[in-house]
Parts: sequence; structure tokens; C-alpha cells
Amino acid sequence: MKCEIITVGTELLFGEIVNTNASYLAKRLKRLGAEVSRQTSIGDDITRLKNCLRAALERSDLVVTTGGLGGTDDDVTREAVSDLLGLPMQRDPELLDSIKEYFAAKGEDMPESAAKEADVVSGAKVLSNGKGLAPGQYVAVGEKAILLLPGPPAELRDVFENGAERVIGAGGKHIVTEAVNVFGIPESAMNDIIKTVDCGGALVGTYARSGELTAEITVTADSKGEAETSAKEIADRVQEALGEYAYGRNADSLAGEVVRLLKEKKLRVTTAESCTGGLVAKRITDVNGSSAVFEQGVTAYSNDIKRSALSVRGKTLKKYGAVSPQTAADMAAGALFTSKADFALSVTGCAGDDDPNKGIVYVCLYDGRDCFVRKLSLTDPRYTRSRIREIAALHAFDMLRRRLTGLPVVTERWLAEGDSVMPDIKVGPFYVRQKNNGKDAKKGFFPRRYRFDPRRTGGFNWLNLVRVMAFCMAFVVLVVSSAYILNDYMERRRNIKASETAQDMFNDTQKYIEENDPDFIYTGPEDILENFHVLYMQNSDIIGWISIKKNNGAAFIDYPVVQSSDNDHYLRRSFFGDYATGGTIFMDYRCNASIFSKNTVIYGHNMKDNSMFAQLLKYGSASFYNSAPIIDYSTLYEGYKFKIFAAFYTTTDFDYIQVSFSDRKEFLAIVSEAKARSVITTNVDVGVDDTIMTLSTCAYIDGIKDARFVVMGRLLRDGESAGGCWASENPDALDIRQEYVPSGE
Ligand code: ATP
Ligand code: MG
Repeated sequence: MKCEIITVGTELLFGEIVNTNASYLAKRLKRLGAEVSRQTSIGDDITRLKNCLRAALERSDLVVTTGGLGGTDDDVTREAVSDLLGLPMQRDPELLDSIKEYFAAKGEDMPESAAKEADVVSGAKVLSNGKGLAPGQYVAVGEKAILLLPGPPAELRDVFENGAERVIGAGGKHIVTEAVNVFGIPESAMNDIIKTVDCGGALVGTYARSGELTAEITVTADSKGEAETSAKEIADRVQEALGEYAYGRNADSLAGEVVRLLKEKKLRVTTAESCTGGLVAKRITDVNGSSAVFEQGVTAYSNDIKRSALSVRGKTLKKYGAVSPQTAADMAAGALFTSKADFALSVTGCAGDDDPNKGIVYVCLYDGRDCFVRKLSLTDPRYTRSRIREIAALHAFDMLRRRLTGLPVVTERWLAEGDSVMPDIKVGPFYVRQKNNGKDAKKGFFPRRYRFDPRRTGGFNWLNLVRVMAFCMAFVVLVVSSAYILNDYMERRRNIKASETAQDMFNDTQKYIEENDPDFIYTGPEDILENFHVLYMQNSDIIGWISIKKNNGAAFIDYPVVQSSDNDHYLRRSFFGDYATGGTIFMDYRCNASIFSKNTVIYGHNMKDNSMFAQLLKYGSASFYNSAPIIDYSTLYEGYKFKIFAAFYTTTDFDYIQVSFSDRKEFLAIVSEAKARSVITTNVDVGVDDTIMTLSTCAYIDGIKDARFVVMGRLLRDGESAGGCWASENPDALDIRQEYVPSGE
């Protein structure tokens, strides 16, 4: 849609008023996708206006006028359109009533001239004016149209945004605009970045205003919701692409965003300004509700005031000069020092036309600990005094915004005018004694009096020393305990890994060799089972493998068994030889590893992580027994099965680890006591000729030293099947504290 703007008013031609309507309309029309091809300003002269309208209507699809809709004689836009199109004017009775009401409300009679404002070009669509009397009018001329809008800017906006936009813009469609606010890159760079984003059918415009940039995304859709969702989504993508340079959405200004962030975080800022003369403070206090985040700012133009009001050191001024990062830092520190704020922003620089250093500005952010200084080199002659000040203020806000949002404050920045890069500086942390901060200063673990400050006028007192020492001690405790926890965790991981490796070596020896050690050569005894070849070469103390599986085949105990010349060696040693709290499952040194002793005793730790023999304690329940009644045990030569017949708590007073017996009676006595203590009663009988296996682990019972949990199984007899075992709870089981009295004695 080709479009022209005609602004009507002699005062515009004489330069008495600035033509802001034209710029407003041009922007809004562009958003609607219209191509604004011409702007004309014309005086309040009906003939010239008619000519102008005629020519415009020939060239364009839409002609938009502003001004000349009032009630005075020089307001001629309506008449011009009516004459040109040959459409008579009609007085709209409803409009007339509302004009009368307007004057009646003020207690006045309606002047005759005002009635004119109720005149409507025949056939025109009336667009109501919420801010004044004369409505807008939309006059269709065949395929083309003329839109008449009032001159006062507030009325123009009201009519345009609440009526005209929808009539002309999108044929009744809804238009939604979402803005992404940007600071810190040149507009061209911003455009390059936006070009990489998929913006669908949205219209994306970029604007630069007073040093800040805006990317405006306009979406037209059938419903408002649809337009809003789509605009938001596209704006999200644009914002993400612009990354740290995008500071907000639909924000009024960078200063406004900083105030919002400070409020949200309940933090305050103070200012110390030289060349900006209070502009930073002004921009903050321009924002509604800024009193929550701002209490005081100091404008210190002369060096004397920098010294007296901000305690800038004479030494600093003399050595580095008033326009230096050092002075900026001193100013910020001084400002923070005399306020209750959490951040100080300071600016010092040269903005004077006759100054050879014009455009060199240092902006500093100090947070009580770290001090960040940004140097601006706005030396291009395009930078006027007021631009320099404006840009400096924006950089101050940018630094604080970055600090508040966790972005790096120290960056390599684009300089506003080009490609050169200017790195920021970070100084600190520093330590200072704050002297007069009132009551607030004494609150907190580290009172504010003793916080860090660039001026390093270090203070000392005993209380502070004690605090620092307490802190250091707490820190040491934290480090040590963390190390313990970490070590514990690492060891557990190592144990799991070691068990898994051993299982791989045993369960699928060939595969293990192929995958891990293709050159493996076995040089051990020839007659042992192949499953043990790799394990044997790792540790020749291996004598077997124990595995207890659920009926469904899942092994919950599945470990190599070793034997050494005593019962201590493997208590804290893994199968692979390194230190391990879980040790290794081992057979009593007195037992015969290849031909079972009468009682084969095997030990394993009851580990908190459920490894080793911890799971044996589950045999306290009969239903668990019924799901896993068999111990599989393989010697190096052959596999065997044991039917579990007892599971009990005991102390070491009961000599259940006796491995050989002088007579049958002695053996049966052990079996009987085990059954009497057993918390489950099984249907597995044990006779004098049987061979048994005892699995022993620690039990942790309050008040009882050396408590054990023991599971005993009987070797399958010749030809006996492994099935048919069952158990029930034994209500008469002896308590661990009870002594066993053999029956018949
Ligand atoms: P009114 O009912 O106030 O007479 P109008 O629609 O007739 O409104 P004008 O008389 O042309 O409009 O202008 C009224 C005032 O609106 C002007 O004095 C000026 O302050 C403002 N104004 C008009 N045109 C423009 C413009 N193009 N840009 C900025 N301001 C304008
Ligand atoms: Mg007027």
C-alpha cells in the first residue's frame, strides 16, 4: 500500500512547532506494512490543500492528513476533502450532542464554531477521539482512501491507535507489536544479527533513539491472541540472538530497566558524577518509584568538591588527574562510603568543546568489593557535549544492569562509532575501614564498616579478627568433610566397578578376554574351570565363586571367594589388591578350599551400600527365603548347590564357625542351635552325614557387641533336586540375647 502524509498547519511551515506528527505517523504506517512515499507540510489554505490532496490521491493508495479539524476558521481540512470529492458535509447529531455535553459539563454554552467539529464528509467512517472533540474520518475513494486525523499529538495518537490503525492497516486484522530493547552494539551489527533470525512473516524494524536501540516486531493476525503469541515468539528469538546486548522487552529505557532490577532485588544505588552533572541521577529519578532504589547522588564538578564530598584522595587527583580510572574509582568508593547503597556509579570525563580530551570519559561501577571501570573514547566530532553525557549515563546503567543480571561487567566492547574494541578494567577486591555508616553498618556477620573498598585504608579490631578466624575454621571443616564425602563416594564407585569387572571375568570369560585382553595367556593350573582363568591370573588366592540368585535368576550376591593364611588379610582389601572398606568375600583359612570341610565358613561385610553380604539379612523373612533358597557355590573345579536351612542372629558366643568336629554329636549340636536361633523354619533337614556351608556377616544391634547374622545351607545330597524348599517365620526363634539350652539336658 502506497501512502502519503500531509501535515496541515501554517505554524508548521513557519517552524513554530516541530512536526512530530509526521514522524509518528511514518513509523506507525511503516509498521502496518505501508510504504510511505511522501510527506508534505502545507499551510491552512483550502485551495492549496485541495491541490495537494488531489495530487497525493493520484499517486498513492492512502493519504493521511493531520491537523485542521478544529472549529476555527483556519481549520479547513474537512472542507477541502468534501470539495475535492464532491461529497457534501453532514452534521452528525450524535457527535453534536457529545460536543454540547462537553461544554455543558464545563458549565458553558457551546460556541457556534465548535458545532463544525460534528461535521462529517458523507460516507466517511467516524473514528472517535478519546482526547478531544473532532473525530478522525476515513473516507473511501474507490479503491483508495483519505484518512483525516486531528493535529494535537495526543488526539492524533488516540484516534490512530484506537480506530484508524485497524481500519486501514489490516482490513480488520489485529496488529501486535513487541519491542526488544538493546544497548551496547552498533545498529548495523544489531541488524546483521537479526538477519540470522527466522522472523516468519513479521515486520521487523530497528530504531536508534538517544543511544539506545529497539528492534520492533510487528505481527498481523486474525485474532489478537494469535498476533500476540506470534509476536512474543519471534521477539524471544530475536532477544536470544542478541544475547547480552538485549536488555529488555517493551521497556521504556535502560535506566528504567535498571531501576526495575534494583527494586526486584531490593538493592540500592548511589551516584557520583562529574561530567554528567547529575544526569545519571536524573535518569534514575525520572523513573516512577525510584525512591525505593535511590536516596542520594553527588554531583562533584570541581576537584575540591570531589575531595570534600567524595573523599577522593588528593594523591589520586595529583598523580592521575581528575579524568582517570583511579579518580572514577575513588569517586565511586566515596559515594558508597557515605551512603547506605549497595552499588555506586561514578562518571568523570571531558565533554567541553575546547578540551583536547573531549569525549574521554571513565564510568565506574563499585559494588563494595569489586570495582569496574569503563573507558569511553567518544572523540569523533559528531559527539556533541550532550551526546557524550547521554552515552556516558547509558554506559553506567549498562554496567549496573550487567552486574545485576550476572553478566560479565568487564567486556570487550564495541565502541559506538566503529569496530575498534575497548576492554573494560576490573580492580579489586579491596579492603577499607568504613567510619561513619550509622547503625546499619554494624549489622551482619561482616559489618559493612569492614567491607572491601578501593582505598585500602585498612582497619583492625579484635572482634573482626575473631570473625575472620571463625570463618576460616568453618571453611576448613567444610573442605575436610567434603573431602571425606567425596572419598567415600569415589571408593563406592571403585568397589562397584571392581565387582562388575570380576563378574565379567567369571561369567563370560571368553568375551572378557576378547574385549579387554586379546593377548591373554593362561599359565595357571590346568585342571581348573575356564571361568576362573582370568581371575586366577589376577589373584591366585581365588578358591571359588559364590552366587545367590532369586528364583527369577537375578543374582543379589555374586562374588569371587578368596582364602589366605589368616582371616584378616581380605577384610579391607579388594580382590584386585587395593584398599577397599568392603574387603573381599573370603573362606575361613581353616577350611579345605577344594574338598568341602564339614562346615565351610565364608565371611563377608555387611556394607551400607548393600554390597558384599549385606543382603543376607533379608533371610530374616520367610517370603524372601522362598524366593531364593539355594546358595550356588563353585570351587575351582566344580559347581555345587546348598539348600539354606537356617538364618539367625547370634553373638560370637555361639561357635558356629567351627569347621571340623570330633564327633557327630558336636556337629548336630551346631545344627540344632542354628535351627533354634533361626528366624525362619525351613523344611530342609540336616543329618550327621551332611556337609554344611555357613555365611557370616555383621549385624548392627544396639547394645550388643559382635552381633552377627548367619545363613547356613546344606550341600545337596547325591541325586537330590534343588527344588521343594520352603520356610515359614519361626515365632519361637531364640533372641540374640538368649542362651541356647539343648533339649534333653
Ligand atoms: P484543534 O481542535 O486543536 O484546532 P486541529 O486538528 O485543528 O486541532 P491544528 O489546529 O492544526 O489541529 O493543530 C492544533 C495543535 O496541534 C497545534 O497548535 C500544534 O500544537 C499541534 N500540532 C498540529 N500539527 C502538528 C504536527 N504536525 N506536529 C506536531 N504538533 C502538531
Ligand atoms: Mg485547529
